[in-house]
Amino acid sequence: MTERVYLLSEARGLSRDLLGGKGFGLSEMAAAGLPVPPGLVITTEACRQYLRRGAVPGLFEEVRAKMAALEGLTGKRFGLGEGKVPPLLVSVRSGAPVSMPGMMDTVLNLGLTLEGVEALARATENPRFAWDSFRRLLAMYGEVVLGERAEVFEGMLSALKEARGARADAELSAEDLEELAYRYLRHLEARGTPFPMDPWAQLQGAIEAVFRSWNNPRARTYRRIYGIPEDLGTAVVVQAMVFGNLGEDSGTGVGFTRNPATGEKGLYGEYLRNAQGEDVVAGVRTPEPLERLKDYAPTLYEELLQVAGRLERHFRDMQDFEFTVERGRLYLLQTRSGKRTAQAAVRIAVEMAEEGLISKEEAVMRVEANALPGLLRPSVDRDKAPRPFLKGLPASPGAAVGHAVFTNEATERYAAQGLPTVLVRPETTPEDITGMYLAKGILTARGGLTSHAAVVARGLGVPAVVGAEALKVFPEEGRAVAEGVEVREGDLLTLDGGTGEVYLGAVPLVEAAGEALLEKLLAWAEPFRRLGVRANADTPEDARRARAFGAEGIGLCRTEHMFFQEDRIPWVRRLILAETPEEEALALERLFHFQKEDFKEILLAMDGLPVTVRLLDPPLHEFLPPLEELAAKAEGGDEEAKRLLERARAMREANPMLGFRGARLLLLRPAIFRMQLRALLEAARELKEAGHDPRPEVMVPLVADPKEVERARALAEELFQEYGPIPFGTMIETPRAALLAAEIAPLVDFFSFGTNDLTQMAFGLSRDDAGKFLPRYVEEGLFPFDPTERLDEKGVGRLLRMAVEEGRRANPRLKLGLCGEHGGEAGSVRFVADLLDYTSASPFRVLTARLAAAQAGLSLGAPEPA
Ligand code: PEP
Ligand code: MG
Repeated sequence: MTERVYLLSEARGLSRDLLGGKGFGLSEMAAAGLPVPPGLVITTEACRQYLRRGAVPGLFEEVRAKMAALEGLTGKRFGLGEGKVPPLLVSVRSGAPVSMPGMMDTVLNLGLTLEGVEALARATENPRFAWDSFRRLLAMYGEVVLGERAEVFEGMLSALKEARGARADAELSAEDLEELAYRYLRHLEARGTPFPMDPWAQLQGAIEAVFRSWNNPRARTYRRIYGIPEDLGTAVVVQAMVFGNLGEDSGTGVGFTRNPATGEKGLYGEYLRNAQGEDVVAGVRTPEPLERLKDYAPTLYEELLQVAGRLERHFRDMQDFEFTVERGRLYLLQTRSGKRTAQAAVRIAVEMAEEGLISKEEAVMRVEANALPGLLRPSVDRDKAPRPFLKGLPASPGAAVGHAVFTNEATERYAAQGLPTVLVRPETTPEDITGMYLAKGILTARGGLTSHAAVVARGLGVPAVVGAEALKVFPEEGRAVAEGVEVREGDLLTLDGGTGEVYLGAVPLVEAAGEALLEKLLAWAEPFRRLGVRANADTPEDARRARAFGAEGIGLCRTEHMFFQEDRIPWVRRLILAETPEEEALALERLFHFQKEDFKEILLAMDGLPVTVRLLDPPLHEFLPPLEELAAKAEGGDEEAKRLLERARAMREANPMLGFRGARLLLLRPAIFRMQLRALLEAARELKEAGHDPRPEVMVPLVADPKEVERARALAEELFQEYGPIPFGTMIETPRAALLAAEIAPLVDFFSFGTNDLTQMAFGLSRDDAGKFLPRYVEEGLFPFDPTERLDEKGVGRLLRMAVEEGRRANPRLKLGLCGEHGGEAGSVRFVADLLDYTSASPFRVLTARLAAAQAGLSLGAPEPA
């Protein structure tokens, strides 16, 4: 049997999966000679076993044996003081293989008992400190292990402060804190969950509680949002306590080796004098910038600078580290690769490569491709902005406009109506994750740049301003006040997470400027990319934007959106109502001219690059007004409405998505097919005559049988006779088309996988309604992720792979693309990178597709020769 408990000093070389991120970081730091308090790690394997069986036989004996070693290393005894030697106290903390900040539980000062407090007071000659440590232990243990709500302890603390007329905790005396500890003890006793006055029982209780915290609701929510597997489990780190609250020469802080918001190089972080670590992370007190240490503790500042350099050289990435200073002595408590904004990720990757810390290939692999659209987030238009009414810390860049809300519940209520929100909180805690996820912006009154709100907002890519101290928030009353201004639920606010400024009302925003660093990174990435990247674009404006982002053509131009425009819809409706071939021809003639102009502009925007135009896809009745509206008008005597109503009733389908659409419609109403294709060919001819280089391709949607493709091809050939041929292809978006790929392939020049419909039909779910239950499926662990967002490799991916292999065999010249929403999602792009010729993504996600495709190329092996 492998060991399940390791001293930090023995754990070197073991994996992050086994030690968790925290245990791994600590053991690496210890090995690198950085000052780390001694401790031990209980592995994730033990946690998994505990969660499976409810117990791990023999584990606690192993822990005791290692604790004996810890006693030897520190020269202290667990829970027992002797004369001038204080008792050994430990922290018990969770640490999953993947960082989940603030999501799981921690207990500090563990090992203290009523006897231990006296010993600690004697040894430190500081009874106030001893009782303060004890009351903190009682509250944390009470919450994490014994299941009492944190507010109960906070309430008792507030009540005592009020009774003593104290404003800050620091104004309470040793006697007050002793009194508070006894109140906590009595309270826990009375609710039937007494605090164990035995250090070993405490230790066992805390370890098991950390194991269990893997499954608490906020940890689950976090895993769902970030797609972290449910079965990793957490490691537990038990480490000798060092104290940041022993006086003015003590303190605690958080450091980043580079700025996590901008990526700028330099020591960056926050420090709280005379405090314990949790005070910083919880954002309850606002700490001061590390810079300030230069003034009153220059040696410490210098030491931190050196530590930052060593950490970066050792871990070869930007580090986010926690430290404590105990009576002037620096200890590192944790380090991990720091969370960062998309902007910072790019800057750090590029600059580290330029500094020679990492290779260019590593730099390319380091940036999360799905985060790139966040780089292009807008900011407040400073020329048009009024004076901000409030200023806080710029915690997560980008500007947001939304209705003020003060609770998760209100955020959900607004989101359900499709309204954007700005979540306003006194500070945020992990409980607020739902609201933070849904909000367009986050504003808090308290907390620093490393507070929970800031870290989570950056991770989510939500613009945030934190620590706006002038703000007083009253969530229960649905209001907040600052500088004499009151903000109520529903009021519009604008915030700029890049500057920390907050405005009343909706302020105009400006689009983000192009990023030179991103261009550099993408230039490094390009040689590794084999997959082509095109864009889904239906308008000239989208086409131009996509081209600026590096799209190599249009992979999907949906033509239905063109039919919805105001000047066309009356003619579409006349087409639907047409009773004679002449009426139909007249309507089509008008639509032809509109379409031709649309196509010309788009072909021009993509001059020299392929543009795949898809013929009409939705059922015609989608172009009619809603039945109720028609009925009301018909009632009022409107003759056209009467006719439309009659048609609408006749054309109504129970399942329009599985109805009279795509190839079915085009083949049975061939005049529409001819009109669209002629418009495209004519547009291209005119452009070519004017000296341009149009490259149109035509594509038929929703086929399920080779006969349909054959008929469509014959229709197209009639026009090709007249205009000359262009590439002709079909979407593969029904499972049957994928199954019959070998028969379809010889009839076409290309396949384009419509993974939206293919997913819908492979799963037998409606893409329009699945939002009602798919998120819960993911939450419940039934699906690892939402298949409408990220391609399901197992099922839909299998259909795709099969169609690719059989299609290519039947037609070696077949070109293969993908144009569903998955075409701009990094994981899906990586999956198809060595299967297809190109992917097609919405304009902002073209960058994501380019980077993800290059990352796939890198992990697949050698780059294509330049
Ligand atoms: C698809 O089904 O994947 C597709 C691109 O077509 P649409 O989304 O228009 O149905
Ligand atoms: Mg489709």
